[in-house]
Amino acid sequence: MGFQHPDISKFPQYANVIGEDKETGGSGEAWAHVYPATGKVTREIKLASPADVDRAAAAAKAAQPAWRALPGDKRRDLMFKLASVIEANAAEMTPLLTAESGAIILSGPHMSADAAQKFRYYGGWADKIEGRTVKTWGGPAHDYVAYEPYGTIGVIVPWNGPLFAATMVIAPALAAGNCVVLKAPEIAPWSLMKFMELVQQAGFPPGVVNLVTGGADVGASMVDHPGIDKIEFIGSGATAKKILASASQLLKPVGLELGGKSAVVVFADANLQSAAKRGLTGAVSAAGQGCVNGTRLLVERTIYEPYLEMLQVMAGHIKIGDPFAADTIMGPVISESALNRIHGMVERGAKVGGRVLLGGERLGGDHAQGYYYPITILADVTQDTEIAQTEVFGPVLAVTPFDSEEEAILLANGTDYGLGAYVHTNNVARAHRVAGQMMAGQVQVNGSGEAMTPCVPFGGMKHSGHGRLGGIEGLREFQQVRNVWVNLQD
Ligand code: NAD
Repeated sequence: MGFQHPDISKFPQYANVIGEDKETGGSGEAWAHVYPATGKVTREIKLASPADVDRAAAAAKAAQPAWRALPGDKRRDLMFKLASVIEANAAEMTPLLTAESGAIILSGPHMSADAAQKFRYYGGWADKIEGRTVKTWGGPAHDYVAYEPYGTIGVIVPWNGPLFAATMVIAPALAAGNCVVLKAPEIAPWSLMKFMELVQQAGFPPGVVNLVTGGADVGASMVDHPGIDKIEFIGSGATAKKILASASQLLKPVGLELGGKSAVVVFADANLQSAAKRGLTGAVSAAGQGCVNGTRLLVERTIYEPYLEMLQVMAGHIKIGDPFAADTIMGPVISESALNRIHGMVERGAKVGGRVLLGGERLGGDHAQGYYYPITILADVTQDTEIAQTEVFGPVLAVTPFDSEEEAILLANGTDYGLGAYVHTNNVARAHRVAGQMMAGQVQVNGSGEAMTPCVPFGGMKHSGHGRLGGIEGLREFQQVRNVWVNLQD
């Protein structure tokens, strides 16, 4: 027995795409990619090096004037075409998404549909980029504001959902007239390699989107590269600090989409079934490896024990196993070191009073060959502990009771993060009152992820980042503003 290993004969063949050139490998180190469900190597890739980044930045720079000058309707049509190509190739993309990170096969079609939607949404903006005129004070003048692209955007994404993260940036960046140097993370490289095939199939001019596959050194060289005009970074706060330090030397703008410890606030008047089902998704969705997963459950004391009971019963119905199996709902975590980090946090959480209701030990049997951690629920977690304050990035829920609305708000806002917040209540006034006090970029009332469409701004407050992707705010992220004043007097 054992879990199915990916079919590597279907993997994309090129690691870098620079201008017109498709390169099977870069000029950097070799990397052996590991499939998390079996712990075995899939294929070795030769990663990019800073020299490859240099060529990619040059290709983007060369392509950008023509891309910027291309009429908006032409940019729109290419982006619409890419959306259709992504949809037509969803069946090929899906197994790659599973192979690269152990994401369940069930989630693949949604990922392609989401990527296509982003190119349709922002393709729709490409022919609607307008400025505005301003009535200035003083003498007769004509004053207008124009929105211009930056030039080249360096896109650095994490291993969890690289296609999701990259397209969230690339679609608005292209619509605004920028070119792109994209880094595929070496830990999960296959979907972005495939994405590049689709970009080429759609007929984008060479150099508009370039790909380098690599790790931290490649990302760092993108940040340091004078030919890359803005960095959009999606990843951890620890890496963001290094990026900001380097970018400060070139005064380079950086957009940051970082981690979270999002609160799920459950009031006694909520629909408990729905609040428990949605509360559980914080652990189950991507095995808890999602930036915006609700992983801190704050539950009104009068319903605390029944809610915990419900969570445990529901968790018992979640099938954890082979990500390639159609009925698997939760897969592995990304690596052995992630397993150890998660387990260490659970152990320390238990030592300081967390009551382990479920899970808490690495899974054995068939699961032992891969990196499997069970759904783990720690109840009675207190606010000042590591498990309440720090992103676990694994299938772990920390649960804390509260006694009043004021206390719930204090607890929910009481971490350094500010990415998501979820409020469960059937009281409309309370829903708006509490939502309006959440220090988080996304607040969902009686929801758990439905809001993640391209037309809404997504991003964090506090240590969860700054800047927004999605919606008109996402477009503005990749535009610079020019104000022009014309003297009409002489
Ligand atoms: P990470 O910070 O380790 O790596 C992210 C990317 O940065 C990778 O491509 C990596 O190669 C690159 N990198 C590493 N060091 C670098 C450096 N010095 N300079 C430039 N690039 C460098 O994060 P991860 O472990 O891949 O991802 C998990 C984190 O990402 C979690 O904290 C998660 O919450 C966050 N995340 C946030 C969002 C969001 O939209 N807010 C989405 C997904 C993941």
